[in-house]
Amino acid sequence: MREEDDNFKVPIVLPSDHHVVKRLVLYKHQEFGHPGVQSLMVALRENYWILKSRRTIKKIIKTCIICQRFSVKQPEIPEETLPEDRVKNASTF
Ligand SMILES: [Zn+2]
Repeated sequence: MREEDDNFKVPIVLPSDHHVVKRLVLYKHQEFGHPGVQSLMVALRENYWILKSRRTIKKIIKTCIICQRFSVKQPEIPEETLPEDRVKNASTF
């Protein structure tokens, strides 16, 4: 039997709020190319059993700066009317 199968059957149980777990989840998140919660849960489940894993992973992924960059909404800038002197026809020389 392979070692990977042993880790899946008897995974390492990790707490949800330990700083080492946060570093591990963030490291794996970056190593796998910034996947979402579900994909990362499946990948981590091969070796680890994180308590409250969905909530924990979701909370940690929110701290990823690269993912934040792509999930930020564009700010809405209200359209201002042009000043009166720009709207009038310009005088010729
Ligand atoms: Zn990310």
